[in-house]
Amino acid sequence: MVHYQAPIGSYAFLFHDVFAVEHLPGLPGAADFTRDTTEAVLEEAGRLATERFLPLNSAGDRIGCTRSKDGVTTPPGFKDAYDAFAQGGWIGLAADPAYGGQGLPYALGTAVNELVTAANMALAMVPGLTMGAIAAIAANGSDEQKQFYLPHMLSGRWTGTMNLTEPQCGTDLGLIRTRATPKGDGTYRINGAKIFISAGDHDLADNIIHLVLARIDGAPAGTSGLSLFIVPKFKIGADGSNGAPNGVTCTAVEHKMGIHGNPTCAMAYEDSVGTLLGQEGKGLAGMFVMMNEARLGVGVQGLALSDIATQNAIHYARDRVQGRALSGQREPGSAADPIRRHADVRRMIYNGLGFNEAARAMIVRAALDSDIAHHASDPELRRKAADRLGLLTPIIKGVFTDRGFQNAVDAQQVFGGHGYIAEWGVEQFVRDARIAMIYEGTNGIQALDFIGRKMPADGGRALKAFITDVMADIARTSADETLGQFGRALAQALGAAQKAAFVLAENGKANPDDAGAGALDMLHVAGLIALGQMWLLILEAALRTPEAPETQARLLNAQFFFERILPETRTRVARIMMPSAGMMAFHPVLDAA
Ligand SMILES: Cc1cc2nc3c(=O)[nH]c(=O)nc-3n(C[C@H](O)[C@H](O)[C@H](O)COP(=O)(O)OP(=O)(O)OC[C@H]3O[C@@H](n4cnc5c(N)ncnc54)[C@H](O)[C@@H]3O)c2cc1C
Repeated sequence: MVHYQAPIGSYAFLFHDVFAVEHLPGLPGAADFTRDTTEAVLEEAGRLATERFLPLNSAGDRIGCTRSKDGVTTPPGFKDAYDAFAQGGWIGLAADPAYGGQGLPYALGTAVNELVTAANMALAMVPGLTMGAIAAIAANGSDEQKQFYLPHMLSGRWTGTMNLTEPQCGTDLGLIRTRATPKGDGTYRINGAKIFISAGDHDLADNIIHLVLARIDGAPAGTSGLSLFIVPKFKIGADGSNGAPNGVTCTAVEHKMGIHGNPTCAMAYEDSVGTLLGQEGKGLAGMFVMMNEARLGVGVQGLALSDIATQNAIHYARDRVQGRALSGQREPGSAADPIRRHADVRRMIYNGLGFNEAARAMIVRAALDSDIAHHASDPELRRKAADRLGLLTPIIKGVFTDRGFQNAVDAQQVFGGHGYIAEWGVEQFVRDARIAMIYEGTNGIQALDFIGRKMPADGGRALKAFITDVMADIARTSADETLGQFGRALAQALGAAQKAAFVLAENGKANPDDAGAGALDMLHVAGLIALGQMWLLILEAALRTPEAPETQARLLNAQFFFERILPETRTRVARIMMPSAGMMAFHPVLDAA
């Protein structure tokens, strides 16, 4: 049986004690973003997650989705749970009230997302993608498109998808072949094949609004020739009612490693009628609104699965008894000690504990930055928030999903052979977590985005601001004995990271492969620095109540991070400094014709 305690206290602490959202300059509705609001919203979301989403997770994994001539059927219970989510107004929690949203901060919506994702990632992806599509239409759509689509998507009556991938192109979207032919009435005929489309077809909603990247006839090759289209599964009447099918078919549901409850569909578009979203030739930029939001959402998936896996490993390690602790038996009355007494088991659990809350803090900060970047009236506040969000997004996506998967594997290892057996649910976390490292741009691509675009952007403005910020946090907290010690470790890692970043940039100018070879390590080093910074902020706030058990737990989690996770920086920096000549030289097997 899977356990899950929604981290409501952690979110209340992060929002109100660490980031003091009520007083955060530029945050819309800050004064109303009270601890009571946070707790009320998250308690309700926590109930939905644990009572409606979680009980379906294992059966959803086992039964999966099926396709028939009538379309795709999701696992039993998914429709009811989706309806409960939609009817509760959760899809529009952070959306514009003008279209039926509740106008609460996106940061709060992100917290809700962690809870439902931990409970049932496959199901949570459906409204998650819809929220991304809503954001893309809100940012790029005409007033008419917004009025027409958003209310039905916010209510959950229609869901959304993103259609980029085709058989011959995943990372390299310049190879997209799907065509859009003007019909002469302002609409387009869309023809082409897409693959791997999450929630491409299902029985959860009345209609599916596909956002499709395609090339208008005569448009140039490459990404500059791509435009974005809204293509509904069913044609839609002026009153929003479903009309005839629109030539959009799911031709296969993929068999895959995890997230079985989410249909990953091969799609055929045959003379499907679509309307242009945004400008011709600006499709990729339009899709990026959705992808940036989705990248944060995928980072949340890494954290969510790390957290639920760690929680279950702790439960198991308390009950399971095997062997005696190395330092002598701890529970003489029993046949053996609980496995939590073994240092190696604690190490595996601490890998999760040393990550989870700091990662949550980073996500909270990034989501608050998104709120400020979109809504603050002061342009300087908007710019700074957008800078930091841009820098943190590939870190959150790449580092959190790599670590989230590894933490799920560690949790599985705590269960021994029982972790490999389906009954305990932990092997599902491993399988579900794996995809997050791949989609929304593989983690290798996140790393290239980080070193190639985000680090040097605007003369390194965002990066310099980040470093200044970390140094200021280290200096401010240095008077406290514990924080001072952690801060010194972080300062050392930061110094090494800066040197590595310099070498990477210099070597990369002479030989781009040197930069490519070190990119993922650089992304992880930046992630470790950012996580360390979050632990300082967390402890600074927690130490206001030093006797609280939560503070003691936070101190130990942070200590593990600084003693046993942060030192990874050294190995990674050593690798970044290495030239790529050896690995790029001709290899008789790898490079054979
Ligand atoms: C379950 C699932 C759900 C998905 N959902 C969606 C969805 O909803 N919508 C959608 O459009 N797509 C979706 N995808 C597709 C997903 O985004 C792609 O699979 C992913 O972007 C990688 O593309 P690819 O599989 O073609 O791999 P490739 O692009 O062929 O990459 C193969 C390997 O080469 C590396 N590589 C490629 N190019 C470079 C480069 N320039 N430099 C360095 N390394 C490189 C990659 O990092 C990777 O390791 C989904 C995929 C899966 C499996």
